[in-house]
Amino acid sequence: MSSAMSRAIRACAASGASRRGLASVEAMGAAAKGPPAAGRWAGRGPGGRGKVEDGARVQWVFLGCPGVGKGTYAGRLSRLLGVPHIATGDLVRHELASSGPLSKQLSEIVNHGKLVSDEIIINLLSKRLEEGEGKGELGFILDGFPRTIRQAEILEGVTDIDLVINLKLREEALLAKCVGRRKCSQCGGNFNVASIDIEGENGGPRMYMPPLLPPPQCESKLITRADDTEEVVKERLRVYHDLCEPVEDFYRARGKLLEFNLPGGIPESWPKLLQALNIEDPDNNRSATA
Ligand SMILES: [Zn+2]
Repeated sequence: MSSAMSRAIRACAASGASRRGLASVEAMGAAAKGPPAAGRWAGRGPGGRGKVEDGARVQWVFLGCPGVGKGTYAGRLSRLLGVPHIATGDLVRHELASSGPLSKQLSEIVNHGKLVSDEIIINLLSKRLEEGEGKGELGFILDGFPRTIRQAEILEGVTDIDLVINLKLREEALLAKCVGRRKCSQCGGNFNVASIDIEGENGGPRMYMPPLLPPPQCESKLITRADDTEEVVKERLRVYHDLCEPVEDFYRARGKLLEFNLPGGIPESWPKLLQALNIEDPDNNRSATA
């Protein structure tokens, strides 16, 4: 990514992404557009699978509803490919914990349970990309961005996204997973008491996801987030789909969307995801159980 990219993203955010602002960043991006991303990605072929030097060509986006585990898979891929995993949720938390210029504004938004605006997210992202450029980072895996069609348009105008991976999990598994989340009030550890074992769909294999149980010392200290009830989770999913389906359509229309149905937990899903991405895991056994 070029410093032009983060400048353009910032300029776009500053202009409030007016039609004019968008048009000008689109013009900037047009010159840099290469061949269709899916072709470029598929063109890696067996010779150059998942090597670190491929990092330069990884400009990926992870989509997926809350609770699907996209942070986990994006994080694993970023370590494997040697590219930064940039999660907008982390950027927000990092800024909140800092004394940066946006932290006061952010804490007010978050404390009132409001959504962080496109402008703030774009500002944080562009700051992060600039810092990465300074350190010589190549490529990126974005997680949590773009979340809206407007963010997708801004991104499209300034850089070439190679691939958008849309992680999906059957809704009954997703609900059980969200409702089963627990946090230890003492050490902050995250656990999941849901034991998912559901019949396969259309003759497909059974889906089994074991619980992630806490160690004995945490058992009596587990708390459930007030908003992890079935009703709230369903509402969260509905809001996500309303917001994100246009983003999926946007990338589908450009031939960049890879739909990936998670077949179960990490041990089943990780090798299949690598296969779908034509990446060879040099240490498959260890990764699958980590
Ligand atoms: Zn604990």
